[in-house]
Amino acid sequence: MHGEAERTSVMLRDLRRAGLKLTPQRIAIVRQFAEDLSHPTAQDLFERLRPAFPTMSFATVYNTLDALARAGLAGVVRLPGKRGDAARFDPNTSPHHHAVCDSCGTVLDLPAGTLAPTQAAVRKVRHAAPGFTVSAVERIYRGVCAACARQPS
Ligand SMILES: [Zn+2]
Ligand SMILES: [Zn+2]
Repeated sequence: MHGEAERTSVMLRDLRRAGLKLTPQRIAIVRQFAEDLSHPTAQDLFERLRPAFPTMSFATVYNTLDALARAGLAGVVRLPGKRGDAARFDPNTSPHHHAVCDSCGTVLDLPAGTLAPTQAAVRKVRHAAPGFTVSAVERIYRGVCAACARQPS
């Protein structure tokens, strides 16, 4: 398990390697993102950072997250539901599944040993979708989160 400070410095180092200049804005985006396990959209981070960086553009936020994703330092999840299907960025790059709350749209990480397909999964795919090569199996668990379950309806 990587600490958040460590995650931040790895991301900054690799962004620099990928040829991005580390401007104060980009560093702030990475800091904010590395600690955020809520699977934020670029819009979420943009709105959170705007008070401190009034001149920051949405494109800067999006492009920084996109560069992290392309460098393998962030996952991208699209989970249709309450919050729409905008790309949500994920600083957790260890293998995991997702649990999505149907009520508020919260997304939680469920650690998985591996996302590699089992023999049974390969057979199932071969049968149901001939010619399709499966490379990973990710699960989405749908339900209601603890906070929503406590709400009187
Ligand atoms: Zn909920
Ligand atoms: Zn996740």
